[in-house]
Parts: sequence; C-alpha cells; structure tokens
Amino acid sequence: MKILVINTGSSSIKYQLFDMERHRILASGVAEKIGEDISILTHWNVSANGEDFKKVEEGVIADHHEGMDRILSLLIDPEHGVVGDKSEISAVGHRVVHGGETFHSPTIIDESVIAAIKENIPLAPLHNPSNLMGIEVAGAIFPDSPQVAVFDTAFHQTIPMESYLYAIPFELYEKHRIRRYGFHGTSHAYVAERAAEYLRRPLGELNLITIHLGNGASMAALKNGISVDTTMGMTPLAGLVMGTRSGDIDPALTFFLADQLRMSVKEIDDLLNKDSGLKGICGSNDMREVIRKKDAGDDRAEIALKLYCYRIKKYIGAYFAALGSLNAIIFTAGIGENSPYIREHCCQGLHKLGIKIDAERNKKSGKEIREISLASSEVRILVVPTNEELEIAQETEKVIEKIL
Ligand code: ADP
Repeated sequence: MKILVINTGSSSIKYQLFDMERHRILASGVAEKIGEDISILTHWNVSANGEDFKKVEEGVIADHHEGMDRILSLLIDPEHGVVGDKSEISAVGHRVVHGGETFHSPTIIDESVIAAIKENIPLAPLHNPSNLMGIEVAGAIFPDSPQVAVFDTAFHQTIPMESYLYAIPFELYEKHRIRRYGFHGTSHAYVAERAAEYLRRPLGELNLITIHLGNGASMAALKNGISVDTTMGMTPLAGLVMGTRSGDIDPALTFFLADQLRMSVKEIDDLLNKDSGLKGICGSNDMREVIRKKDAGDDRAEIALKLYCYRIKKYIGAYFAALGSLNAIIFTAGIGENSPYIREHCCQGLHKLGIKIDAERNKKSGKEIREISLASSEVRILVVPTNEELEIAQETEKVIEKIL
C-alpha cells in the first residue's frame, strides 16, 4: 500500500510518499513560495534503477492546486517516477493542526469533518485554513483515494480537566472552548511508541516525559502511555522557551506592553511569537548558532541557553510530581536528537529524582534510538528520532484498513 502524506502551509506543500509494506520512503519534497514571483519545488525519489533522483524546479506555481499537480507529475514521471498512475496511491494523510475538542483520533475526511475543521479555525487561524486548502486540492486531484486527517491536538485530548482548564470564568470555556489543547501530538505519540518497543514494555505500563525540541518545542507527561499534561496551551505559544516564541510569561505583560508601550494586539502577537525566545534574548533562533555564539564567549547566548534548559528542567520536576513515578525521559526533534549540551543541562542536578545522564553516551551521535542514562539511573533517558510523517502514514493506514 502506498500512502501520500501532505503538510500544507499558507504558501507551501510538504509531502512524503510511503511504501507501507516495506516501510520505505519512496519520494519526498516541498513546494515553497507558492503564489510568489518565483516558487521552488524540491523533489527527491529513488528511481526504478535504485538511484537517487533529485530535481529542483524554479518558476511560478500560481496556487496550491498547481503545486499539487506538479508534485503528482514528478511522482508519475515515466522515466524517474515512483508510481505508474495516481490510482496506486491508496490514501492521502493530512497533517491538520487544530482538531479542537471535536477530534480525539485520526479521521476519514468527509463533508462533516471538513465542516468541523472549519469550525475550529478560530483556534488556529493561521494553520487550519491552509490545511483545509490541502484537503480540497488533494480531494480534487485524488478523487478516488480516501483522505485522512491526523490532528496535532488529538493525542492530548486525554488530558484531564484540571490540567486543561485555565482559571478564568468557566463560561469562556463553555462558550468559546478556551482551554489548553497542546500540539506536536503526532511526535509525542510516535516517540512514546518507539520508546516502549525499545524498553520492551507495553506503552500502557509506562510513565514517560517526552521532550520535543525543534523550532517549536513542547513537553508532555504520559501516564500509562496516555497524555495527562503538556506545555503548549490553547496555542503553541505557551510553555518552553522556543526559537522565536517566548513560552510561559506573566499574562499581565501584555497589558503592560499595550498600556505603557502603546503596542497594538498585532505588535504584541508578533513580539511574543516571532521576536522572543532564543532570538529575543541573544539575536539567533537557530540552536546551532546560539551554541556557536556561546562557545565564542557571547554572554547573551549563554544566558539564553541557561533560560532554555532551566525551563525544561522545571517542567521535568513538575511532570515528575504530576505522574508520581517515572520510567523514562525521551528527547526528540532537531535539538533533542542532536544537542548533547542541551540534554546534559536539562538533566543536570536531578540525581535525587533518579535521573542520571551518562556523559559519554550522551556525546555519541546517531540516527537510531539510543539510551544515554547511566546504568544506575532509575529513570531511563532516551534519544528517540521523531518521524511525524511516518506516524501520519501509519495512522492513515490504520484508519483506511477499517473501511477496506
Ligand atoms: P522543526 O520544528 O522546524 O521541524 P527541527 O526539529 O528540524 O525543527 O529542529 C530545528 C532546530 O534543531 C534548530 O534550532 C537547529 O539549530 C537545531 N539543531 C539541528 N542540529 C543540531 C545540532 N547538531 N546541535 C544543536 N542543535 C541542532
């Protein structure tokens, strides 16, 4: 079975085509700057003769429909393509950012699902409209392949009311669904499943803290394998210090910025989402750059890193308390998978909690799942490479197998 996974942004379409039987990626790529003067389509696949085929096309891609058409042309290209005909694509899996309280699991897309994703637009005004556009375009281009929506929020729909409610008038929750939702659900779910396999224990028996550190960053507390708390909130702005997002702040800061500094809502939104986090403190949002600056003696980079790790450490303590006991901590995504410095500083000084990192194991790099705790550490510490696209493909397969 071949499944196409699509992540549609306002001016981009990222895609991967999976061969589910062989657990292989057949093709992947991204169409960027759609609707701009020069769009770029970067494509990779393995040709029939086993060789890598790469292509970068520059030109105008007027809209998402044209973008998807161009992607399909590359996939079915008679010389280099990986499928003979689009009918070979059994299903299309879509990443959808916000499922609100409507969606607790991946869902076959029909008219009522489209309507419900539309209803959730106020919760994700930047993302859900783009995701809907991807659904519409893929529906038109692959009319005979079922489409499945996999929601970033769904995995966290198990969190109990005491961790998802904000202590503001209850009517705001009832009428406007203002509450914590949490994001990165596909990643937290994927790494938790891989960790359970690695530890040779059923996921349902494990208490885990999963730490996803990419450009966006979030943590989740999993009790018996189920999400019971997470750091992001109603939007992805809450929680950890991120590349350009502030994470947790005193909400009254926004009144100060508006009243004293006369900033508009839009300016405050941009400040907290685009100019804060690592970038706000030291001018760089890319972690490799921040570490390079720190190594060169930049004080601001050093304090940015301290703040970054301190926030994570604080949440490790909080989630340990929420869970009562802890089997493992899992680091994932660009920073979590690749930065020994960050992992070390997040775990430093937690011996009393049974969390002991092995400095030597932590330094080793690799693409596979690996353990970086000391043998004497009660809590195992793992690095688990995430694969959100594969998780979406697998979830899509599970959903469509039920209807085939
Ligand atoms: P996204 O959220 O866009 O998927 P990624 O998961 O790819 O992001 O993570 C991007 C982050 O990972 C960037 O801050 C980048 O600097 C960081 N990163 C990648 N490799 C390393 C490394 N070797 N050391 C430290 N940080 C790294």
